[in-house]
Amino acid sequence: MKDYLNLSRMNFEMSKSQIDFISKVDNSCRNLRKFEEESYLLEKFNEKLIPEFNKIGMLGCPISKQYGGLGYDMLTYLLSIERIGEEGSSIRTFLSAHTSIGQLVLQNWGNEEQNKEYLTNTTNGKSIMGFALTEPEAGSDPASLVTEYEDCGTYFVLRGKKHWIGNGTFAKIITTYAREKGTNKISAFIVEMDSQNIETIEMKNKMGLLTVKNAEIFFNNCIIPKKNLIGLKGQGLNIAYSALIDGRLSVAAGSIGVMQDCLNEVVTYSKSRKQHGSVIAKKQLIQHHISQIAISIETSKWLVYRAGCARQKLHEYLIEFKTNNKTWISKLNRDNEIYKKLRFEADRLAAIAKFHATNTAFDCANRSIQIFGSAGYKKTSRVAKHFLDTRATTIYEGTNEVLELKIASAILGNDYSSY
Ligand SMILES: Cc1cc2nc3c(=O)[nH]c(=O)nc-3n(C[C@H](O)[C@H](O)[C@H](O)COP(=O)(O)OP(=O)(O)OC[C@H]3O[C@@H](n4cnc5c(N)ncnc54)[C@H](O)[C@@H]3O)c2cc1C
Repeated sequence: MKDYLNLSRMNFEMSKSQIDFISKVDNSCRNLRKFEEESYLLEKFNEKLIPEFNKIGMLGCPISKQYGGLGYDMLTYLLSIERIGEEGSSIRTFLSAHTSIGQLVLQNWGNEEQNKEYLTNTTNGKSIMGFALTEPEAGSDPASLVTEYEDCGTYFVLRGKKHWIGNGTFAKIITTYAREKGTNKISAFIVEMDSQNIETIEMKNKMGLLTVKNAEIFFNNCIIPKKNLIGLKGQGLNIAYSALIDGRLSVAAGSIGVMQDCLNEVVTYSKSRKQHGSVIAKKQLIQHHISQIAISIETSKWLVYRAGCARQKLHEYLIEFKTNNKTWISKLNRDNEIYKKLRFEADRLAAIAKFHATNTAFDCANRSIQIFGSAGYKKTSRVAKHFLDTRATTIYEGTNEVLELKIASAILGNDYSSY
């Protein structure tokens, strides 16, 4: 067995294949830019997105080749998400919902039959995924969720309401989380969205993220086949929290892209805009904003890549554990010190990366609007779009307040957990 607990082992060096893939992502992003900008103004999903990303395999980037994915490691996936983040957090949010909190839940926790049946069609774009945890009365405290399931012997019946679900208007498959009637166990399920007794309503009037679609989802006595339980009964929150590690990493990586795009925009603009006799790039207070953006990019990169390496180690350990233990799902948490340590570290570092990168991305978008002056205060300005979009990133995938509490309790110990 590898030395998984050597937590300082990191390698940010990319192979030729990784570099080639990121350059394909870059090319796709260039192809998508014009359509994304048009779609954003029309508040429409960008119809070119799925075919364009499907062409290069981006819809299954970190998913095993066995299920049609490219099988890339976490760092390569995060670097591609970073590049995609430059095109805006809407595109990135679509991918976070499809891959980070969508496909990866199945890859990590699903059994072979579930993965063959469901995952394979998600890597070729035939089936888009989503993750439905949040409820009107259970947001930053998912443990208080009230969506209920009943075990009816040969099937489950699901009742309840979820909201804000990314890709929820068109996803073919989602994972959802519900409490068992009479037992209080929270469990995770795969739901086929074309099943009977499911209603979805698009959530309108969002302040940003205008090309990604969010939905309210109503389960009105929806029947779920027994085979669609993920993991064991009662493991639902554990599964959801593990998905959020991946979700946070993708939000953090996308935030670096946002900051990079802001930097590109302000450098070009400040070198051309003249006031008080010279270009504003020569003014010290403008340079202060520019240096702050550059510092935020570099500090966030370190946190995201380091957290990505910790997550990759957890992934590699899981693969080895699954291969060696047929009943891995019941054994995983039980006294497994290596798993606990690796997960704790990945969780802690992802929380720090997401907290820092999203706060700095919002700050950078704000500074960028300031550099543009009135030209930045327009719906058509890229920096204005980043400003509106990044506002959501400190709220979803764990609010930054809850992440702060999580970071503190990782230091103080669970006895001091205040959330
Ligand atoms: C654009 C967008 C996309 C989303 N996509 C998805 C999705 O795909 N799937 C999904 O399941 N959910 C999704 N969500 C939901 C998101 O995860 C929740 O909004 C988030 O968890 C916060 O829940 P809430 O909005 O109910 O806020 P609340 O939980 O009501 O929190 C309100 C405020 O109180 C603070 N707070 C709460 N508890 C504490 C505490 N103990 N100490 C200090 N402060 C506290 C919070 O940090 C926040 O500032 C999305 C949300 C948005 C805005």
